[in-house]
Amino acid sequence: MSASSLEQIPFENPFVDELRGEDSAIQGSRQVPGYCYSRVQPTSVQAPRLLAWSEELGEYLGIAKPAAQGPAVDALAGNLVTASMKPFAARYGGHQFGNWAGQLGDGRAISLGQVAAVDGTPWEIQLKGAGPTPYSRRADGRAVLRSSLREFLCSEAMHALGVPTTRALSLVGTGEAVVRDMFYNGNPQEEPGAIVARVAPTFIRFGNFQIMAAHGEMDNLRALADYTLRHHYPELGPPGPDAYVRWFEEVARRTAVMVAHWMTVGFVHGVMNTDNMSILGLTIDYGPYGWLEPYDPDWTPNTTDFGSRRYAFGQQPRVALWNLMALAQALSPLLPDAQVLRGGLDIYARTLADTQHELMLRKLGLTSQFPDEDRALTGELPQALSKPEIDMTWFFRQLSHLAPALIAGTGNEDALFAELIAKAAYSVAPDEDRNLLKWLHRYTARLRQEPAEKEAIRAGMLAANPKYVLRNYLAQQAAEAAEAGDLSVLERLMHVLKTPFDEHSEYEALAAKRPDWARDKPGAATLSCSS
Ligand code: AMP
Ligand code: MG
Repeated sequence: MSASSLEQIPFENPFVDELRGEDSAIQGSRQVPGYCYSRVQPTSVQAPRLLAWSEELGEYLGIAKPAAQGPAVDALAGNLVTASMKPFAARYGGHQFGNWAGQLGDGRAISLGQVAAVDGTPWEIQLKGAGPTPYSRRADGRAVLRSSLREFLCSEAMHALGVPTTRALSLVGTGEAVVRDMFYNGNPQEEPGAIVARVAPTFIRFGNFQIMAAHGEMDNLRALADYTLRHHYPELGPPGPDAYVRWFEEVARRTAVMVAHWMTVGFVHGVMNTDNMSILGLTIDYGPYGWLEPYDPDWTPNTTDFGSRRYAFGQQPRVALWNLMALAQALSPLLPDAQVLRGGLDIYARTLADTQHELMLRKLGLTSQFPDEDRALTGELPQALSKPEIDMTWFFRQLSHLAPALIAGTGNEDALFAELIAKAAYSVAPDEDRNLLKWLHRYTARLRQEPAEKEAIRAGMLAANPKYVLRNYLAQQAAEAAEAGDLSVLERLMHVLKTPFDEHSEYEALAAKRPDWARDKPGAATLSCSS
């Protein structure tokens, strides 16, 4: 099937057609009780211009890459709404930092409807930053270039790493300025605006169900649950109490798989509020996220969370469970006995442990032959890595290259380990590497028990340990260059992040450890929710 220009592609609108929504001429932010969504129109922008495009996703969706300007870019900017689109903003609520926040909703994201991919599966296209909706509260419905670029790049990078995520099709500059106080310190500034077209089977969140339950809107709660089952979990059978339980278990399972991936690639979401939890177990809402550089379970990039560190790297498994409990509570009115949802929480814990262990074995080039010993081995690694300041990505990539020599036992092991740690560490205080050295000796002995040929082991490890991740300072550099009109940094990054396990030896610098100047740099090491 050949690709068509976006404005020529027919849209389907099941969310709008099948659920109860409001279609009101009233402008302005407001409460929208009784409805699952509001019909809205995107607000036109002055001078839309294509800044980046995901080739692979475009091909899959059968959407042709647009020229820099024209009708397709107009559609991606919200300037053109075609006859088959029924744009809407979804109503949802959520717990923010542990507290119930009431109605939130799509305050700046506007869904255009669904298109069919080349394999026939439907995908929703949503414009983030497309103007105010009833859910905008006191904000402007817009997004700045730096945060849109970060969402665009990271969604596609996560996909290439095999992490469940929403996707991003395009990044469009609006030609308009947006005012933001980046660090909430009384320094509002004009920044260029942008819109990301993001793509997922659906953007329904835990919070969509929570708002219905919180307001006692049982008809909407059931309708939304049944809609989700029919469209997104058809394999679970016709909606009803048994299917609801199986569904919750599947959401729990998928959430665990997602978090296990985060924990093994070193991704910190930054704002795991329940409104930022996808009902499909996808990473969603890229805001003040970050990538671990020194392995530190207590690290978070989000300045808003510096006090309690609720959403720090090491807290993510616990927080996802908390969020699942909030979802269970929202779904409980649909069941005669809500206790049956407890099974889902057990499934979460088991799947998380199993998946994390499996992913870690792959990273270490091990197959599951000695379950008990291997659990101890993978279980001790985080502790060993967190003492000297070890760069997580570097460590695993270098270990992959080292594996054949370790297996062959030809080199001086102590010297090899010392070199590995020196290369991967930001700093090592005297004696701080003791646990890691001990661990490396144990690991080497275990690695030698693997039956596979040593080069095959190395190849397997290189396919599990990325060379390139979206280091915080790299995203910042790409954003600063784009703001100055230079898209080459963004394009280079897109290129390596699309195939992050390949060497790309001409781009070695993009795999380097974080440079010293970026250690505490605002925007690179610390981010706020201002976006
Ligand atoms: P977030 O922290 O990005 O997940 O957003 C929390 C809530 O604030 C969601 O309801 C967003 O739609 C809304 N929101 C964030 N930024 C804006 C904005 N610039 N304009 C309108 N709503 C916003
Ligand atoms: Mg959000």
